[in-house]
Amino acid sequence: MRPEILFPVFAPITSLKGVGPRIGGLIENATGSRTIDLLWHLPNAIIDRRFSPKLLDAPAGVIATFTVRVTKHGVPRHNRQPYKIFCENDDGALTLVFFHAQKDYLEKQLPPGEVRVVSGRVEHYHGQIQITHPDHITTIEESQDLPLLEPVYRLTTGLTPKPLTKAIAAALALTPKLPEWIDATFLKKNQWPSWNERLAYDELLANQLAIALLRRHMRRATGRSIAGTNQLRKKILGQLPFSLTKSQIRALNEIIKNMSAETRMLRLLHGDVGSGKTVVAFLAMVNAVEAGGQASLMAPTEALARQHLSTIQTLAQSAGISCAVLTGRTKGKARANLLADLKAGHISILVGTHAMFQDDVSFANLALAVIDEQHKFGVHQRLNLQAKGHGVDLLVMTATPIPRTLLMTSYGDMDVSRLTEKPAGRQLVSTVVKPIERFGDVVTAIKRAITSGGRVYWVCPLVDESRFVDLAAAEERFATLKTYFGSRVGLVHGRLNEAKRDNTMSDFANGKLDILVATTVIEVGVDVPEATIMVIEQAERFGLAQLHQLRGRVGRSDKPSSCLLLYASPLTRTARARLNILRETDDGFQIAEEDLRLRGAGELLGTRQSGLPNFRLAELPIHGELLAAAEDDAKLILTQDEALEGRRGEALRTLLYLFERDAAISLLRSG
Ligand code: ADP
Ligand code: MG
Repeated sequence: MRPEILFPVFAPITSLKGVGPRIGGLIENATGSRTIDLLWHLPNAIIDRRFSPKLLDAPAGVIATFTVRVTKHGVPRHNRQPYKIFCENDDGALTLVFFHAQKDYLEKQLPPGEVRVVSGRVEHYHGQIQITHPDHITTIEESQDLPLLEPVYRLTTGLTPKPLTKAIAAALALTPKLPEWIDATFLKKNQWPSWNERLAYDELLANQLAIALLRRHMRRATGRSIAGTNQLRKKILGQLPFSLTKSQIRALNEIIKNMSAETRMLRLLHGDVGSGKTVVAFLAMVNAVEAGGQASLMAPTEALARQHLSTIQTLAQSAGISCAVLTGRTKGKARANLLADLKAGHISILVGTHAMFQDDVSFANLALAVIDEQHKFGVHQRLNLQAKGHGVDLLVMTATPIPRTLLMTSYGDMDVSRLTEKPAGRQLVSTVVKPIERFGDVVTAIKRAITSGGRVYWVCPLVDESRFVDLAAAEERFATLKTYFGSRVGLVHGRLNEAKRDNTMSDFANGKLDILVATTVIEVGVDVPEATIMVIEQAERFGLAQLHQLRGRVGRSDKPSSCLLLYASPLTRTARARLNILRETDDGFQIAEEDLRLRGAGELLGTRQSGLPNFRLAELPIHGELLAAAEDDAKLILTQDEALEGRRGEALRTLLYLFERDAAISLLRSG
């Protein structure tokens, strides 16, 4: 149960003074429905109104505040002319300018002869000092309430700054004094104030404490030793058309060693697109089979699951290992037979989608679960995935180039094996950044590539499947390309049914199509070696990590490949800098670090899809060092009071509730 002391901060915003249902609805759109959402709604800028120069000296463009006497009103003769109000003080003259003014209102606000405090942006116009539409106009008495340092909050349609600022002030006034959860010495050393003024660290501490609890819980659950004979692996390695890279060998050894230990394996296999994770995972699965167990491989989509199966089946056959695939499309008799075989242990490796984790799917002896492209699943799902066997070892594969700092916030509970090099002979993809106006050149270039046997991905951005505009853009591009390339062009997007989508993708893979126009549904992981050109439209709308992954779809054969990043002009400076990074490097990790620096973590991967935590206050590019401190702190806390029962422990539970990481508290109970 949430501690009572936190009740007021989790109350609905309509319980705040001055927030009725109408304003409440508008605020809710901008922040969320609870008081705590208001607290976490930080200003994105501060306007400094403290500058109060002599009128004659006031520079143009700055925000300033003046005390002036109103001299007269200049009422316009036409509607198009502005209403001007002339003012002065001992230092000079000031003109206030209003367009589409309401005469009555201005006469009441600024009656001639009265003194007023006005604040706004200074302009110089034909030698006059003026302010157009001042932000604030008050009497001398009211001027105490004029915000000299004014926070600017993100708004939504219909919501003006005033009621929001008021509601936030009301929410802040409600914040209770909470018991201290930070170590007293550490607090003193950093000279930090109380929690409601020191939140970034607290949020990171809550995150790291939750991760530490998860880690401890996962490890405590008993594992078992899985040690294969190496016979099948030897056979398979002999059949591979290539030899493993040094990183692949190292990663595989780490995994094999980890699996043979009595503890449960929780390992992330982290490697850039094309670094060869699949074969490593496959050999780990073979290790499980050699030891008399079964293994499963879960992919995020049907298409990927089927692709994995075909890769694995070819290799497995030579060693006599039986494989099968189970997805949402496996139905009726076929499904029933498959489940029976699985339960009887006749299937050694099962590849599939989420459908593998339905209640009626049971294994004879599941020893290893592999999850591909983990970034589609969150920390909480990880807890559920293990219920299918006893002490099942877990290997998670991701190609998302997660910077070190972020890795700690979401995979802090796992050990990591990293593939740091690409297989030999991989072609570097040449990357070009061009405005969409050069469409004609692009068509010429892809014609040439197709003539020499290449295939082309053409990606249109899709921010949100429900946005018809984006979909229409892809359909329109498809139609345009058809006028050049006829029936050799295909289109896939998320609104197509799965069967249709898979058919088009396999037509592309088999060479029935030369060009595949797609929204980003061409999943990370699709392998079509003949594809040598990747065109990405409105590249400026994608995350760099995503662009890098898309680029990784080409350059998979011995032919030279290229990636064309098309943008809609004009590009902002940051957008240009971002796209240039892709031109300059092929190192996914470097790209991710740069993107983090330029954009901040929230935008990096699209937090919702990524499963990475969405921090409300902490900003990782700024607070990276605090994160390391929070990690140490969390570990120390659990060595001193692993059940969080002491006084500080109680306070730390409150912290977990405050930042809504309380799922971790259930782990404490289950011990
Ligand atoms: P990813 O890490 O992106 O999942 P894959 O496992 O799909 O990469 O591997 C990409 C391609 O590289 C596959 O066609 C695979 O057969 C090939 N490959 C994997 N390891 C090696 C290697 N050591 N040498 C050459 N090619 C390899
Ligand atoms: Mg892959």
